[in-house]
Amino acid sequence: MKLITSIQEMRSFSSDAKKSGKSIAFVPTMGCLHGGHASLLKKGKELCDILVMSIFVNPIQFGPKEDYASYPRDLKRDLAIAEANKADVVFNPAAEAMYAQDFQTYIDVACLSKHLCGISRHAHFKGVATVVAKLFAIVQANIAIFGEKDYQQLLIIKAMVKDLNIDVDVVGMPIARELDGLAMSSRNNYLNNDERKAALCLHAALMKGKELFENNVKKPNIILQEMRNIIEAEPLAVVDYINVCDVNTLEDLDKIQDSALLALAVKIGKVRLIDNCILG
Ligand code: AMP
Repeated sequence: MKLITSIQEMRSFSSDAKKSGKSIAFVPTMGCLHGGHASLLKKGKELCDILVMSIFVNPIQFGPKEDYASYPRDLKRDLAIAEANKADVVFNPAAEAMYAQDFQTYIDVACLSKHLCGISRHAHFKGVATVVAKLFAIVQANIAIFGEKDYQQLLIIKAMVKDLNIDVDVVGMPIARELDGLAMSSRNNYLNNDERKAALCLHAALMKGKELFENNVKKPNIILQEMRNIIEAEPLAVVDYINVCDVNTLEDLDKIQDSALLALAVKIGKVRLIDNCILG
């Protein structure tokens, strides 16, 4: 496995690989790797000849009061996990190399970014779309793999690729969970024991919503109230949002027809966690 930090070297590696007829799968991450990332890497290895993973904590997707400085970083551990998951290259550029002082170009996937996490994290998706477009331009992958854990992000990247005619296939992978249902996340590392137990309310609320839908409750209001009751029964939890929305546009639904996205963001102590589930 190769560790590449230079943008030029990453670009040359990919150009050479493609000239020799090899296909490239790309998994962008912010590191602090867990089983969710590993499932993406496994898929990448299945789909292409060469597997490239990036580890880059992207400063421009964090708000001023968010956890950019304290975001967990452990490159040595991440490299061992990348190698165990058969990555061929880990691309780990410096923030200064990605964002020159005169950097001024941003991508705004306007409508999809307004909903869900976009409401409390204003510039977040602009930062995500911009860094992913840059990484796509550098890595030149055939296939890029993202997790449905960040469902809104996945839709935004798909929209960006379509709107800007970027030549990459975007593949989504299901949410990897701990045995007790908690969605795997780098931010789970911040949770103390009590918070870790409290965090189970996200999955419990989603399972309640799913059960109601499967018992023919199609009114979002009823589903949302039952889910809210579960979260609010947990003293350490504060709801940021709980929504029942369209799986493609993320617009709120008045009535569920065939399918819907149940999505929620909840603060457990100081840690903001997200999770979701598709109905139908
Ligand atoms: P991150 O390092 O948190 O930016 O995530 C990098 C990629 O891993 C994104 O495409 C995420 O959606 C994906 N990912 C994170 N957590 C999970 C999970 N629990 N299951 C599946 N994919 C995940």
